[in-house]
Amino acid sequence: MTDKYVYAFAEGNKDLKDLLGGKGANLAEMTNLGLPVPPGFTITTEACRAYLRDGRTPESLDAEITEHLAALEQAMGKKLGDPEDPLLVSVRSGAKFSMPGMMETVLNVGLTDASVPGLARQSGNVRFAWDSYRRLIQMFGKTVCDVPGDAFEQALDAAKRVKGAHADVDLDADDLQSLVDAYKRIFKQHTGRDFPQEPREQMELAIRAVFESWNAERAILYRRQERIPGDLGTAVNVVAMVFGNLGDDSGTGVAFTRDPATGETGVYGDYLPNAQGEDVVAGIRNTIPLQDLEGLDPTSFTELMRIMSVLEGHYKDLCDIEFTIERGKLWMLQTRVGKRTAAAAFIIAGQLVDEGVIDSDEALRRVTGAQLMQLMFPTFAKTDAEPLAKGIAASPGAAVGKAVFDSARAAERAANGDKVILVRRETNPDDLPGMIAAVGILTSRGGKTSHAAVVARGMGRTCVCGAESLDVTDDSFKVGTTTVREGDVISIDGTTGKVYLGEIPVEPSPVVQYFEGESAHSVPAPSGVSREDGGLNASGGTARSPLVRAVDRLLRRADERRRLQVWTNADTAADAARARRFGAQGIGLCRTEHMFLGDRRELVEALILASTPDEQEQALAALLPLQRADFAEILQAMSGRPVTIRLIDPPLHEFLPSLEELAVKVATGQASSHDEELLAAVRRTHEQNPMLGLRGVRLGLVIPGLFAMQVRAIAEAAREVKQAGGDPRPEVMVPLVGAVQELEVVRSQALDVIGEVDPGVRIPIGTMIEVPRAALTAGQIAGPAEFFSFGTNDLTQMGWGFSRDDVESAFFGRYLELGIFGVSPFETLDAAGIGRLVRIAVEEGRAARPDLQIGVCGEHGGDPESVHFFHDAGLDYVSCSPFRVPVARLEAGRAALATGGSDTR
Ligand code: PEP
Ligand code: MG
Repeated sequence: MTDKYVYAFAEGNKDLKDLLGGKGANLAEMTNLGLPVPPGFTITTEACRAYLRDGRTPESLDAEITEHLAALEQAMGKKLGDPEDPLLVSVRSGAKFSMPGMMETVLNVGLTDASVPGLARQSGNVRFAWDSYRRLIQMFGKTVCDVPGDAFEQALDAAKRVKGAHADVDLDADDLQSLVDAYKRIFKQHTGRDFPQEPREQMELAIRAVFESWNAERAILYRRQERIPGDLGTAVNVVAMVFGNLGDDSGTGVAFTRDPATGETGVYGDYLPNAQGEDVVAGIRNTIPLQDLEGLDPTSFTELMRIMSVLEGHYKDLCDIEFTIERGKLWMLQTRVGKRTAAAAFIIAGQLVDEGVIDSDEALRRVTGAQLMQLMFPTFAKTDAEPLAKGIAASPGAAVGKAVFDSARAAERAANGDKVILVRRETNPDDLPGMIAAVGILTSRGGKTSHAAVVARGMGRTCVCGAESLDVTDDSFKVGTTTVREGDVISIDGTTGKVYLGEIPVEPSPVVQYFEGESAHSVPAPSGVSREDGGLNASGGTARSPLVRAVDRLLRRADERRRLQVWTNADTAADAARARRFGAQGIGLCRTEHMFLGDRRELVEALILASTPDEQEQALAALLPLQRADFAEILQAMSGRPVTIRLIDPPLHEFLPSLEELAVKVATGQASSHDEELLAAVRRTHEQNPMLGLRGVRLGLVIPGLFAMQVRAIAEAAREVKQAGGDPRPEVMVPLVGAVQELEVVRSQALDVIGEVDPGVRIPIGTMIEVPRAALTAGQIAGPAEFFSFGTNDLTQMGWGFSRDDVESAFFGRYLELGIFGVSPFETLDAAGIGRLVRIAVEEGRAARPDLQIGVCGEHGGDPESVHFFHDAGLDYVSCSPFRVPVARLEAGRAALATGGSDTR
């Protein structure tokens, strides 16, 4: 806690984002770089947090604002709202992480009845003065005093109707002056007071409204989506107004130092002549390409290019910029390390290494597993279908879904399982729920920097914007003679901007094709598992796209850096082979229960129904060769690398027909004697809480011979593969152990069986740690266990007391809403709680057995954030589904680097 709540721009810098928010920190940085930033100051996030906590601003804030305002007035040579020559300011939100359009901004603060004539005189433009005033009343009314925006819109439409005008710009000074009167009446009608005529009061109310907008519904929703903590608060920037709407020698724009969609270098951005900044981001008017500014105002253009290169050099990354030109003078209103697509993130990181701007480790910090995952989604296959329309390719991907024209409807249909594409003329922050629910977003207006494009890119949603040939209404769109209504299927291609009627087939992503194909040329797997043995070591001779080259390069770097090995969860030879191509260094979990389903179910039924030891033995003998063949295939596919085979885990009822089904058959007289026998068995084995009942090691101990049969199948399969020239490395894993005695019994039986099959073979025997008691008694369990593998699915279930199959749909939505957790603990490991169990088990297990091998095979093994936790907790490997293997490799590499790097949220 400090007592300083306000910083002049010259006092801050880019590293103070926590305190000054992203916008404030970067305005400060640009000020200190000597770039043309309008003077201003930043009220800290700490002030916001205090306001939200106490319901009032901190005591010293007022005096600090007075002091900084005085300095601002002095720098500008004018006073706030002075009738002769008013200083006007913008009051802008700016949190640590960018939340485009989610919070409030009020422009032209300081303008009053008394100062409009002064502004008119000073600007030499009466129309501009009245337009500025009506914008202030409208924005202030809406955002500070909750006056419904429609009321102002209707008054504006009425003014245009009276005049016979089409656009706002057709209204002249007199029209706007009358409109100001109408707006003031609306303001009074809704608030019960006159529009404030005291400039300082306007400013203070606007500051409070910005603080409060942190908790606006859409802001909360956005934070949840982007996993931004809810307690950060926003800073407030008070900046001297510069005007892009003073005539044709003025304007406003957005620029990127590289193409945020492809990473290509070059001039990139949109410009809107004679407009204020908000008009561009809102996508309300169509912009012109930034290159065209060179013809309109070569001096400002050259200056902008110079500044863009200064910024890229300084930030060593793609920057995005908002600027305004006021009568030929360029002003920088914002910069930040820019949001980008997943592909661009990889490509740009690679480019910056090539350019010598950053090193490979820094490049690795700048990409994420979530981005890599996105690149593994399919794209559209080549198609002869005629596109319905073509818009701007704003955020890549291939989306097929039902057209929906309203945000709430989109959310509703998606909740019912529909894939929807949200189609709007343009989007605004109120459309956020629909944008989140949709698989794709299509708009008819706005450029690559419109709200739809920026938000979609941030969320990784496919987006085509500015498809101008679409005539979009509230419930349909028309293009030529075609009308598309709610529910009609459309396909949108965020990479080409094409929009199709109907469903276009999709094909695998080039990145996945690279993972699959590349290893076809790769060297045979070396014996033994080493970190370098990632399966993707061949450099490959095929021509690769810049994206594939960048992915290859960064994954190599991750492999060099990571300490964690990456294994896979695979139950079939095909999955094992794919995972190996993707770089898996072993199998961390082979679930054997999947091998008891389908045709084999009857054999398991026979085992359950067996009433004598003989019958039981027969049933097991029938299963043995089948199991042996399964294991042999997998061991062959993973030859030379460990294959952790888990003995059967689920409760018995999963292998029997349902109680209801059998009971109906019996009740309606359709049951055979076998059915009746089955029904009795189902009743006998019925459990209230089967996931906490007779499963895992408990089942193995209750049904003699079951585990022994599986161990025999493993040992025999290994012998077979070895005889065929392979290098099988099976490991036996016992599920659901809670007490060391359970493991001791199973281990001793297993050793006997292995010794019988092949006295010369050594098969490690270990256990899952998935019952909290096992974690808490890990020191004992490490006695008979040669390895631990955390079953974090069950550990989360039992640690929280959450039934894993029920809670996500029952009440997790509410828990997320209440902020009890930011993300489901079944997705990202709950580091504070379940993570503590993991740390205890690692520490006590290793203390008892220093060479204990420790991994994780719950779903968390492929979750980026959890991978960092497991690295930190000192595990040897993470095991995840084949598709997540590259993601885990990348994140394990990132985890090994010291923290830092860009965060472009
Ligand atoms: C676990 O519990 O984390 C685990 C991997 O086992 P399963 O999901 O099969 O219960
Ligand atoms: Mg489990």
